[in-house]
Amino acid sequence: MKFSGKNVLVTGASRGIGAEIAKTLAGFGLKVWVNYRSGAKEADAVKEAIEAEGGSAAVIGFDVTDEAAFIDGIKTIVDADGELSYLVNNAGITKDKLALRMKTQDFMDVINANLTSAFIGCRESMKVMRKKKFGSVVNIASIVGETGNGGQTNYAASKGGVIAMTKSFAIEAATSGIRYNTITPGFIATEMTEVLSDEVKKSFTDKIPMNRFGDAKEVANATAFLLSDYASYITGETLKVNGGMNMA
Ligand code: NDP
Repeated sequence: MKFSGKNVLVTGASRGIGAEIAKTLAGFGLKVWVNYRSGAKEADAVKEAIEAEGGSAAVIGFDVTDEAAFIDGIKTIVDADGELSYLVNNAGITKDKLALRMKTQDFMDVINANLTSAFIGCRESMKVMRKKKFGSVVNIASIVGETGNGGQTNYAASKGGVIAMTKSFAIEAATSGIRYNTITPGFIATEMTEVLSDEVKKSFTDKIPMNRFGDAKEVANATAFLLSDYASYITGETLKVNGGMNMA
Protein backbone atom coordinates (compact mmCIF):
# COMPACT_ATOMS: atom_id res chain seq x y z
CA MET A 1 0.00 0.00 0.00
CA LYS A 2 1.22 3.51 -0.79
CA PHE A 3 1.04 6.53 1.54
CA SER A 4 1.95 10.02 0.36
CA GLY A 5 1.68 11.41 3.91
CA LYS A 6 4.18 10.83 6.70
CA ASN A 7 2.44 10.69 10.07
CA VAL A 8 -0.81 9.64 11.73
CA LEU A 9 -2.60 10.18 15.02
CA VAL A 10 -4.57 7.17 16.25
CA THR A 11 -6.86 7.95 19.19
CA GLY A 12 -7.42 5.25 21.80
CA ALA A 13 -4.40 3.29 20.56
CA SER A 14 -3.29 1.87 23.91
CA ARG A 15 -5.15 -1.39 23.31
CA GLY A 16 -7.67 -3.24 21.16
CA ILE A 17 -8.42 -2.10 17.63
CA GLY A 18 -6.55 1.21 18.02
CA ALA A 19 -3.30 -0.54 19.06
CA GLU A 20 -3.54 -2.83 16.05
CA ILE A 21 -4.22 0.11 13.72
CA ALA A 22 -1.16 1.89 15.13
CA LYS A 23 1.11 -1.14 14.56
CA THR A 24 -0.26 -1.77 11.06
CA LEU A 25 0.23 1.84 9.93
CA ALA A 26 3.75 1.91 11.37
CA GLY A 27 4.44 -1.19 9.29
CA PHE A 28 3.66 0.91 6.20
CA GLY A 29 6.32 3.44 7.20
CA LEU A 30 4.17 6.11 8.87
CA LYS A 31 5.25 7.79 12.10
CA VAL A 32 2.46 6.88 14.50
CA TRP A 33 1.27 9.05 17.40
CA VAL A 34 -0.18 6.60 19.90
CA ASN A 35 -2.93 8.31 21.91
CA TYR A 36 -4.21 6.98 25.23
CA ARG A 37 -6.38 8.24 28.08
CA SER A 38 -5.54 6.06 31.10
CA GLY A 39 -3.34 3.33 29.63
CA ALA A 40 0.06 5.05 29.66
CA LYS A 41 1.97 1.77 30.17
CA GLU A 42 -0.01 0.03 27.44
CA ALA A 43 0.63 2.94 25.05
CA ASP A 44 4.36 2.71 25.83
CA ALA A 45 4.20 -1.01 25.04
CA VAL A 46 2.59 -0.25 21.65
CA LYS A 47 5.37 2.26 20.92
CA GLU A 48 8.03 -0.27 21.92
CA ALA A 49 6.45 -2.98 19.76
CA ILE A 50 6.48 -0.60 16.78
CA GLU A 51 10.10 0.37 17.36
CA ALA A 52 11.11 -3.28 17.77
CA GLU A 53 9.87 -3.80 14.21
CA GLY A 54 11.90 -0.81 12.98
CA GLY A 55 8.97 1.62 12.92
CA SER A 56 8.60 5.12 14.30
CA ALA A 57 6.18 6.04 17.11
CA ALA A 58 5.50 8.62 19.81
CA VAL A 59 3.09 8.44 22.71
CA ILE A 60 0.65 11.28 23.29
CA GLY A 61 -1.76 11.15 26.22
CA PHE A 62 -4.98 13.12 26.28
CA ASP A 63 -8.68 12.55 26.83
CA VAL A 64 -10.51 13.00 23.52
CA THR A 65 -13.52 14.42 25.38
CA ASP A 66 -11.35 17.32 26.55
CA GLU A 67 -11.54 19.70 23.60
CA ALA A 68 -8.64 21.91 24.69
CA ALA A 69 -6.42 18.86 25.27
CA PHE A 70 -7.33 17.38 21.85
CA ILE A 71 -6.51 20.68 20.12
CA ASP A 72 -3.27 20.92 22.07
CA GLY A 73 -2.39 17.33 21.11
CA ILE A 74 -2.74 18.10 17.41
CA LYS A 75 -0.64 21.25 17.88
CA THR A 76 2.10 19.19 19.55
CA ILE A 77 2.16 16.85 16.55
CA VAL A 78 2.26 19.64 13.98
CA ASP A 79 4.99 21.46 15.94
CA ALA A 80 7.08 18.28 15.96
CA ASP A 81 6.48 16.98 12.42
CA GLY A 82 5.38 20.08 10.49
CA GLU A 83 2.06 18.43 9.57
CA LEU A 84 -0.61 15.88 10.41
CA SER A 85 -1.19 13.69 7.36
CA TYR A 86 -3.70 11.19 8.73
CA LEU A 87 -6.10 10.81 11.66
CA VAL A 88 -7.95 7.76 12.94
CA ASN A 89 -10.73 8.61 15.38
CA ASN A 90 -10.89 5.24 17.12
CA ALA A 91 -11.34 6.00 20.86
CA GLY A 92 -14.73 4.85 22.06
CA ILE A 93 -16.70 3.61 25.05
CA THR A 94 -19.93 1.78 25.84
CA LYS A 95 -22.35 2.32 28.74
CA ASP A 96 -25.03 -0.23 27.92
CA LYS A 97 -28.47 -0.29 29.51
CA LEU A 98 -32.04 -0.73 28.32
CA ALA A 99 -33.36 2.70 27.34
CA LEU A 100 -35.98 2.81 30.09
CA ARG A 101 -33.20 2.47 32.68
CA MET A 102 -30.61 4.62 30.94
CA LYS A 103 -29.76 7.87 32.66
CA THR A 104 -29.51 10.93 30.42
CA GLN A 105 -25.95 11.35 31.65
CA ASP A 106 -25.06 7.84 30.37
CA PHE A 107 -26.50 8.81 27.00
CA MET A 108 -24.54 12.06 26.90
CA ASP A 109 -21.29 10.48 28.10
CA VAL A 110 -21.29 8.03 25.20
CA ILE A 111 -22.26 10.69 22.65
CA ASN A 112 -19.47 12.85 23.99
CA ALA A 113 -16.79 10.14 23.94
CA ASN A 114 -17.72 8.60 20.58
CA LEU A 115 -19.29 11.36 18.47
CA THR A 116 -18.35 14.80 19.82
CA SER A 117 -14.70 13.75 20.13
CA ALA A 118 -14.68 12.54 16.52
CA PHE A 119 -16.21 15.88 15.48
CA ILE A 120 -13.41 17.75 17.24
CA GLY A 121 -10.80 15.52 15.59
CA CYS A 122 -12.33 15.91 12.12
CA ARG A 123 -12.63 19.68 12.45
CA GLU A 124 -9.19 20.30 13.93
CA SER A 125 -7.45 17.99 11.46
CA MET A 126 -9.18 19.78 8.59
CA LYS A 127 -7.72 23.09 9.77
CA VAL A 128 -4.24 21.60 9.63
CA MET A 129 -4.59 19.37 6.55
CA ARG A 130 -6.10 22.03 4.29
CA LYS A 131 -2.83 24.00 4.56
CA LYS A 132 -1.07 21.11 2.76
CA LYS A 133 -4.12 20.37 0.58
CA PHE A 134 -3.69 16.77 1.69
CA GLY A 135 -5.07 14.49 4.35
CA SER A 136 -7.18 11.45 5.08
CA VAL A 137 -9.31 10.64 8.11
CA VAL A 138 -10.93 7.37 9.11
CA ASN A 139 -13.59 7.28 11.81
CA ILE A 140 -14.28 3.98 13.53
CA ALA A 141 -18.05 3.63 13.95
CA SER A 142 -19.89 0.30 14.36
CA ILE A 143 -22.42 -2.01 12.75
CA VAL A 144 -24.67 -0.90 15.61
CA GLY A 145 -24.71 2.59 14.09
CA GLU A 146 -26.28 1.05 10.97
CA THR A 147 -28.74 -1.37 12.54
CA GLY A 148 -29.43 -0.11 16.09
CA ASN A 149 -29.15 -2.49 19.04
CA GLY A 150 -31.24 -3.14 22.13
CA GLY A 151 -29.44 -1.97 25.25
CA GLN A 152 -27.28 0.42 23.25
CA THR A 153 -29.43 3.43 22.35
CA ASN A 154 -26.59 5.74 23.37
CA TYR A 155 -23.88 3.78 21.53
CA ALA A 156 -26.04 3.30 18.39
CA ALA A 157 -26.89 7.01 18.29
CA SER A 158 -23.22 7.95 18.65
CA LYS A 159 -22.05 5.59 15.92
CA GLY A 160 -24.93 6.42 13.56
CA GLY A 161 -23.98 10.05 14.11
CA VAL A 162 -20.37 9.31 13.20
CA ILE A 163 -21.46 7.76 9.89
CA ALA A 164 -23.57 10.78 8.87
CA MET A 165 -21.07 13.30 10.21
CA THR A 166 -18.24 11.71 8.24
CA LYS A 167 -20.18 12.07 4.98
CA SER A 168 -20.78 15.74 5.78
CA PHE A 169 -17.08 16.36 6.45
CA ALA A 170 -16.27 14.52 3.20
CA ILE A 171 -18.46 16.91 1.24
CA GLU A 172 -17.03 20.02 2.90
CA ALA A 173 -13.39 18.94 2.50
CA ALA A 174 -13.50 17.26 -0.91
CA THR A 175 -11.97 20.16 -2.82
CA SER A 176 -9.29 20.65 -0.14
CA GLY A 177 -7.69 17.29 -0.90
CA ILE A 178 -8.90 15.74 2.35
CA ARG A 179 -10.87 12.49 2.46
CA TYR A 180 -13.13 11.35 5.31
CA ASN A 181 -14.33 7.75 5.53
CA THR A 182 -15.95 5.48 8.10
CA ILE A 183 -15.36 1.88 9.05
CA THR A 184 -18.19 -0.04 10.68
CA PRO A 185 -16.73 -3.09 12.43
CA GLY A 186 -19.04 -5.92 13.42
CA PHE A 187 -18.06 -8.03 16.42
CA ILE A 188 -14.31 -7.84 16.98
CA ALA A 189 -12.44 -9.74 19.69
CA THR A 190 -11.12 -7.04 22.07
CA GLU A 191 -11.56 -6.09 25.74
CA MET A 192 -14.80 -4.33 24.74
CA THR A 193 -16.37 -7.64 23.67
CA GLU A 194 -14.47 -9.85 26.13
CA VAL A 195 -16.96 -8.85 28.84
CA LEU A 196 -19.78 -10.64 26.99
CA SER A 197 -20.80 -14.04 28.35
CA ASP A 198 -20.05 -17.15 26.26
CA GLU A 199 -23.77 -17.53 25.68
CA VAL A 200 -24.11 -13.98 24.28
CA LYS A 201 -20.93 -14.44 22.20
CA LYS A 202 -22.37 -17.64 20.70
CA SER A 203 -25.69 -15.95 19.92
CA PHE A 204 -23.78 -13.20 18.05
CA THR A 205 -21.47 -15.67 16.28
CA ASP A 206 -24.49 -17.62 15.02
CA LYS A 207 -25.62 -14.44 13.21
CA ILE A 208 -22.27 -13.83 11.49
CA PRO A 209 -22.10 -15.50 8.05
CA MET A 210 -18.35 -16.12 8.52
CA ASN A 211 -19.26 -17.66 11.89
CA ARG A 212 -16.53 -15.98 13.96
CA PHE A 213 -15.64 -12.69 15.62
CA GLY A 214 -13.27 -10.51 13.63
CA ASP A 215 -9.68 -9.81 14.58
CA ALA A 216 -8.52 -6.27 15.32
CA LYS A 217 -5.92 -6.73 12.56
CA GLU A 218 -8.74 -7.13 10.03
CA VAL A 219 -10.13 -3.71 11.00
CA ALA A 220 -6.60 -2.27 10.89
CA ASN A 221 -6.00 -3.52 7.35
CA ALA A 222 -9.23 -1.91 6.12
CA THR A 223 -8.29 1.33 7.89
CA ALA A 224 -4.89 1.34 6.21
CA PHE A 225 -6.53 0.90 2.81
CA LEU A 226 -8.94 3.81 3.30
CA LEU A 227 -6.17 6.10 4.53
CA SER A 228 -3.79 5.12 1.73
CA ASP A 229 -3.31 6.46 -1.78
CA TYR A 230 -4.99 3.25 -2.99
CA ALA A 231 -8.30 4.81 -1.86
CA SER A 232 -7.57 8.21 -3.44
CA TYR A 233 -11.02 8.47 -5.10
CA ILE A 234 -12.98 7.19 -2.09
CA THR A 235 -14.52 9.71 0.31
CA GLY A 236 -17.67 9.77 2.45
CA GLU A 237 -17.78 5.98 2.21
CA THR A 238 -18.76 3.53 4.94
CA LEU A 239 -16.80 0.29 4.77
CA LYS A 240 -18.28 -2.67 6.62
CA VAL A 241 -15.80 -5.03 8.29
CA ASN A 242 -18.15 -7.55 9.80
CA GLY A 243 -17.81 -11.05 8.36
CA GLY A 244 -20.84 -10.65 6.09
CA MET A 245 -23.52 -9.26 8.42
CA ASN A 246 -25.96 -6.55 7.35
CA MET A 247 -25.11 -6.74 3.65
CA ALA A 248 -27.93 -4.53 2.39
P1 NDP B 1 -11.31 -1.07 23.83
O1 NDP B 1 -12.26 -0.84 24.94
O2 NDP B 1 -10.55 -2.34 23.78
O3 NDP B 1 -10.27 0.15 23.72
C1 NDP B 1 -10.76 1.45 23.75
C2 NDP B 1 -9.63 2.41 23.56
O4 NDP B 1 -10.19 3.72 23.52
C3 NDP B 1 -8.60 2.37 24.66
O5 NDP B 1 -7.32 2.54 24.10
C4 NDP B 1 -8.96 3.58 25.53
O6 NDP B 1 -7.84 4.19 26.13
C5 NDP B 1 -9.49 4.53 24.47
N1 NDP B 1 -10.35 5.56 25.01
C6 NDP B 1 -11.60 5.43 25.52
N2 NDP B 1 -12.06 6.62 25.90
C7 NDP B 1 -11.09 7.53 25.61
C8 NDP B 1 -10.97 8.92 25.76
N3 NDP B 1 -11.95 9.64 26.30
N4 NDP B 1 -9.83 9.53 25.34
C9 NDP B 1 -8.82 8.83 24.80
N5 NDP B 1 -8.87 7.48 24.63
C10 NDP B 1 -10.00 6.85 25.04
O7 NDP B 1 -12.19 -0.88 22.52
P2 NDP B 1 -12.06 -1.53 21.05
O8 NDP B 1 -10.66 -1.61 20.65
O9 NDP B 1 -12.90 -2.75 21.02
O10 NDP B 1 -12.84 -0.43 20.21
C11 NDP B 1 -12.17 0.57 19.48
C12 NDP B 1 -13.20 1.32 18.64
O11 NDP B 1 -13.87 0.37 17.79
C13 NDP B 1 -14.29 1.99 19.47
O12 NDP B 1 -14.66 3.21 18.87
C14 NDP B 1 -15.44 1.00 19.40
O13 NDP B 1 -16.68 1.63 19.59
C15 NDP B 1 -15.27 0.47 17.99
N6 NDP B 1 -15.89 -0.82 17.74
C16 NDP B 1 -15.50 -1.94 18.44
C17 NDP B 1 -16.10 -3.16 18.17
C18 NDP B 1 -15.73 -4.41 18.88
O14 NDP B 1 -16.41 -5.43 18.66
N7 NDP B 1 -14.68 -4.45 19.69
C19 NDP B 1 -17.17 -3.27 17.18
C20 NDP B 1 -17.51 -2.03 16.51
C21 NDP B 1 -16.87 -0.87 16.80
P3 NDP B 1 -7.36 3.95 27.65
O15 NDP B 1 -7.39 2.47 27.87
O16 NDP B 1 -5.98 4.53 27.66
O17 NDP B 1 -8.32 4.68 28.52
